[in-house]
Amino acid sequence: SKPVVAIVGRPNVGKSTLFNKLIGERLSIVDDVPGVTRDRIYGECEWSGRKFSIVDTGGIEPASNDIILSQMRSQAQLAIDAADVIVLVTDIRTGVVATDSDIAAMLLKSGRPVVLCVNKCDTVGSPPPEFYEFYNLGLGDPIPVSSVHGHGTGDLLDLIVKNL
Ligand code: GDP
Ligand code: MG
Repeated sequence: SKPVVAIVGRPNVGKSTLFNKLIGERLSIVDDVPGVTRDRIYGECEWSGRKFSIVDTGGIEPASNDIILSQMRSQAQLAIDAADVIVLVTDIRTGVVATDSDIAAMLLKSGRPVVLCVNKCDTVGSPPPEFYEFYNLGLGDPIPVSSVHGHGTGDLLDLIVKNL
């Protein structure tokens, strides 16, 4: 069957916006309220002649005991377990936060290939200095992306397909 790519990250970094951009539809709800994507949502994608499924997940807040947040976390864990490649989405505007490091550690433990997306890099050209701190997550080269404008999604897809 088709390989599966899971989009994970904490709430509000732009996972659903990226998902919609990659599948070219608006299947997933984008919202300013963190944690709106409660269920996993699947879409189909094709790049460089490779077909794969993409799954959008609710945000991960590893430290929380809240019931909804912990359900979102289990959903994300299920998606991670079923994924061939995982895209960790982060946000250039906040920089690296503790939750990003927690999720990165969780993903490294999964042993699956991870592609690191630094979202909301809306300005074209060389990324801002804050971009380089994302190397500290230990997930290899981060890819600057603007999911709203679509900048960088080609580079992201190249790296996803390389890891399939
Ligand atoms: P999710 O919770 O990770 O799924 O995040 P959403 O996709 O719902 O987006 C959260 C907010 O970030 C929304 O207001 C989006 O419009 C905004 N957003 C997402 N991607 C970008 C981007 O590339 N640039 C900017 N400026 N805003 C973005
Ligand atoms: Mg979402």
